[in-house]
Amino acid sequence: MNLVYASPMDTRTDIDIPTLKADLKRERATLLHDAELTAGERATVKLDQTTVGRLTRMDALQNQAMQLETERRREVALARIEAALVRIAQDEYGYCVSCGEEIAAKRLSMDPATPLCIECAAHAVHDTGTPPS
Ligand SMILES: [Zn+2]
Repeated sequence: MNLVYASPMDTRTDIDIPTLKADLKRERATLLHDAELTAGERATVKLDQTTVGRLTRMDALQNQAMQLETERRREVALARIEAALVRIAQDEYGYCVSCGEEIAAKRLSMDPATPLCIECAAHAVHDTGTPPS
């Protein structure tokens, strides 16, 4: 009688999933911590504007745009991490979500949250996998 696997994919044995999982959780904690810090900064900037009035309107708008962009990137990063943790829980971690091929161990060690193999990342219109570096 043949073994029947619950998942069509086997768990990768060439990557250290517990370590990668710990990395993901640490990164998530850092991002959440940063989010709290910037929430405080935002409040401070607002106060300065009204009481001191040092920032020009242009500076204020630029500042705000930068903060929103930072926040957006952080949310994307958090979503990637959450998704990677879900894939670990479902024994699908380490496989490209697009083509199903194994993601290179080296790529995962550099970016444990990446959902795409290098091929798919290269062809993706907007790669949610890897932030530009
Ligand atoms: Zn792929």
